[in-house]
Amino acid sequence: MENPAVRDKRGGKVIFLSHCCLNQNAKVRGIARYAGAVTPLVELLLQEGVGIYQMPCPENSYLGNMRWGMVKDQYNNPMFRRHCRRLAQEVVDQAENYLQCGYQVLGFVMMDGSPVCGLNRTPRPKNPEELWGGMTWYLPEQVYVPGRGNFCEVLQEELEGRGMGDLPFAASPEFDEVGNMEDALAQVRGMLGVE
Ligand code: SF4
Repeated sequence: MENPAVRDKRGGKVIFLSHCCLNQNAKVRGIARYAGAVTPLVELLLQEGVGIYQMPCPENSYLGNMRWGMVKDQYNNPMFRRHCRRLAQEVVDQAENYLQCGYQVLGFVMMDGSPVCGLNRTPRPKNPEELWGGMTWYLPEQVYVPGRGNFCEVLQEELEGRGMGDLPFAASPEFDEVGNMEDALAQVRGMLGVE
């Protein structure tokens, strides 16, 4: 029943974004590409009238904002994976409930280049034999390799476990080395069903 004084204008479409797509302040210092949000991505979503669900930032809610840049291997431990699992369960609860209530969940936009939210590219130690960690005056080399970050893996496992594994995924690139923004926007347009 609608309130006669208010016309409900909701479009019934929701897309899930990695936290830093909307808040670049969450990123490790030195790699925020935008002042606030990933502007071209968010402009597209606003223009198309899509509801935006901001997923929590697993890194910021685990180590805080004063953390160093890390590789996937450093986060790939049971404690951090459990943290990701808890966050993913809450995110998937929301997606499941939107579907139960007849909304369209258009998909998930992750962050390529992240050890945690990467979908297609994630940083790993250049020398796979080397254990990372130690004092900051020794920095080993990292490389971006094909693969998912820890949160992305756990999120997709959680979706699959609930029969929602066919929801589409795309990723915004942290920088040019890990992907092309135009390609990412084309993928998101595909999720929205617009050219
Ligand atoms: S990529 Fe993921 S973990 Fe990294 S800052 Fe963005 S939301 Fe946080």
